[in-house]
Amino acid sequence: MDQVLYDYTRQDAEGQSCTAHAWAKVPAPLNKPQREALKQRAAELLRAHNAVLVAHFYVDGDLQDLALATGGCVSDSLEMARFGRDHQASTLVVAGVRFMGESAKILSPEKRVLMPDLDATCSLDLGCPADDFAAFCDAHPDRTVVVYANTSAAVKARADWMVTSSCALDIVSELKARGEKILWAPDRHLGRYIQEQTGADMLMWNGACIVHDEFKGLELELLREKHPGALILVHPESPQSVVAQADVVGSTSALIKAVVEGKAQEYIVATDNGILHRMRQLAPGKTLIEAPTAGNSATCKSCAHCPWMAMNGLQGLVDCLAHGAGEILVDEATRVKALTCITRMLDFTAARRAQAAGLVPGIGAA
Ligand code: SF4
Repeated sequence: MDQVLYDYTRQDAEGQSCTAHAWAKVPAPLNKPQREALKQRAAELLRAHNAVLVAHFYVDGDLQDLALATGGCVSDSLEMARFGRDHQASTLVVAGVRFMGESAKILSPEKRVLMPDLDATCSLDLGCPADDFAAFCDAHPDRTVVVYANTSAAVKARADWMVTSSCALDIVSELKARGEKILWAPDRHLGRYIQEQTGADMLMWNGACIVHDEFKGLELELLREKHPGALILVHPESPQSVVAQADVVGSTSALIKAVVEGKAQEYIVATDNGILHRMRQLAPGKTLIEAPTAGNSATCKSCAHCPWMAMNGLQGLVDCLAHGAGEILVDEATRVKALTCITRMLDFTAARRAQAAGLVPGIGAA
């Protein structure tokens, strides 16, 4: 296949596809009184607008705390989608990146969906333009199209299934058991990991997350030597050389669970460092070490933090609620098509949960 590559740090890159643009829009640090005043104002606005805050584990810790304190949620993208769909609020404020806001709108068209900054995007989404992707699908009509959540509504509209890192293994295993061949997009590392684990026939798009792609296997080996008792926790968007050293490979929720339930004292964490906020809260006595991103082969700003996630701030939250700015809109034809693949995933995961709990959906205990 043709490779679709984007150089986000290029000097001539423009607009939201450039990480320099994102870093320039990251809010300046605030002092404690400023943060508390904004949190109080945001809580008032959430109440006044019958709104709920749905935040991802990678965003600023104040936003995570505010979401929990006001009856919202902090979670991975699968749970964010579920929570937003099922909540009775008339406005969802999504603190995360654009595809998360779009998924919320696709699932809840009757709700207003706001985001603190609509320019907050994702390299996986940017690296999978809908027209190119449609041509790729057209060239392989015999394959079931499975896309990661980190894609635009237009790409989801072309897909048979959406998956997140929480459920990708189960869904691809099921498709393989049915004898289906898969067209996978856009993350090449996650796709490779799923392929290795399931043995499924998967044709891959060549996308990557600019944060996880920067973790370095060699430097991780050196770090492990200094911390021989540490458990290695890795998100599967990371390169193979990093995943190969993992004690636990999983979604953000799975990695947090591993820290909370793990017997080790030290954990080396290979995912966006925004997750450390929640890990520290839930496992306060444990030592968390960021996996290395720097090294001889580092290609760009290596800091294990997503510039687009970092664009979410308290002031942006207050502004979007106060002025109705940052509203996510998805045209109805695209929304209806994209809904199919998301609903399939949610139904699948609900059925799996029910099975695990010994229940049959709609019937009760079985
Ligand atoms: S951390 Fe990576 S996958 Fe997540 S939003 Fe940022 S660029 Fe996308």
